[in-house]
Amino acid sequence: MSAMSEVVVVRGRLVLASSVVDDGVVVTSGGRVEFAGSVVDALEAGHGPALEQVPPAPGTYVLPGLVDLHNHGGGGASFPDVTTAAEALPGVLEHRRHGTTTLLASLVTAQPEVLVQRAAVLAELAEAGEIEGLHAEGPFLSYRRRGAHNPADLQEGSVELVADMARAARGYLRTMTVAPEVPGVTGPGGVAEALVEAGVLPSLGHTDGTTEQAEALIEQVTAALGAPMTATHLFNGMRPLHHRQPGPIAACLAAAARGDMIVELIGDGVHLDPATVRSVFDMVGADQVVLVTDAMAAAGVADGRYELGPMSVVVHEGVARIPTPQAAPGTPEEEGPIAGGTAHLVDVVRCAVRGGVPLVDAVRSATAVPARVLGLAGEVGALVPGARADILVTDDDLRPLRVLRHGVNVDVAGA
Ligand SMILES: [Zn+2]
Repeated sequence: MSAMSEVVVVRGRLVLASSVVDDGVVVTSGGRVEFAGSVVDALEAGHGPALEQVPPAPGTYVLPGLVDLHNHGGGGASFPDVTTAAEALPGVLEHRRHGTTTLLASLVTAQPEVLVQRAAVLAELAEAGEIEGLHAEGPFLSYRRRGAHNPADLQEGSVELVADMARAARGYLRTMTVAPEVPGVTGPGGVAEALVEAGVLPSLGHTDGTTEQAEALIEQVTAALGAPMTATHLFNGMRPLHHRQPGPIAACLAAAARGDMIVELIGDGVHLDPATVRSVFDMVGADQVVLVTDAMAAAGVADGRYELGPMSVVVHEGVARIPTPQAAPGTPEEEGPIAGGTAHLVDVVRCAVRGGVPLVDAVRSATAVPARVLGLAGEVGALVPGARADILVTDDDLRPLRVLRHGVNVDVAGA
């Protein structure tokens, strides 16, 4: 009998889409969820014999495996820098050990030929089922709001480069961050149109654009998709909200509130104050929020110097920054721009909950909502019959104890 065909029973406080079942149970078989609900209902459904082996576990949470849409690496591996799929795998496994069972590997702005090469390499990992696909962060981004992106590699919108990257990624390029005000992005014949035609979701971000420019891109993309687009780490890498120069943030929040946008939040306590995260959940609802890590190579490993594509990054006390001489205009002189996160997605969920976001909402924004963005609702991100048996078990402080992927235990040693 292969590991995948085994019946696995997991018991604990089960976190469902809108409720927590105190004595809950998940029964998996063949790598899929067969049952998820209360022990009482499980007994009624005939799962008594399987349940007998598994005692109640009131001090644990049982969550769907987490889904991270924005992740540049971890465990010392930097997805924008890999030249082989094997080099990227430690980054995938670093996050998987902490409960992220589905992720998009994020690139950063680089020379076109580098982007095409990296897309081809990471597509191998997607074909092998290790990652769900790729997120390209750039290169059609704002110079002023570039954050950690290399200014020399930013460029105007190019539908040719979109086509080259999509071809190299063999169907696995899933999202691309674009700034609406960069020439060649918004409007007929632009990058946003080419992305939608290629089946790639445009994500608005790293933008110094006006409210009107953001609104125009959102309107264009949602009309073409018939579905919401995303905003890349709302607030970070954007012109700040000012009441006389509202910029893109107000437009994104308004779009999210009416269901036309899903906003990423790096709710790690470093990129955003927890009160900002809590307020956005209150404003637009968990179904329009995706919690992400924006993790880079240092996630899960020591402080030090790391690469993020063409840029060098210094990590000090878990905060990654571009060293001061290259600081972007508008950032405090003593601190370079933040250059990605060092948290795992479960840490972001914990931080959001501590900041006042209800547990079921924080979990939904790290599971079912990103799954919906990927078109994987019912497949990942929720413990429902038929879904992949991707499960994260934590203690009552949301520290990972056990991870299953396709119903098979992931080694969490060292997590
Ligand atoms: Zn990023």
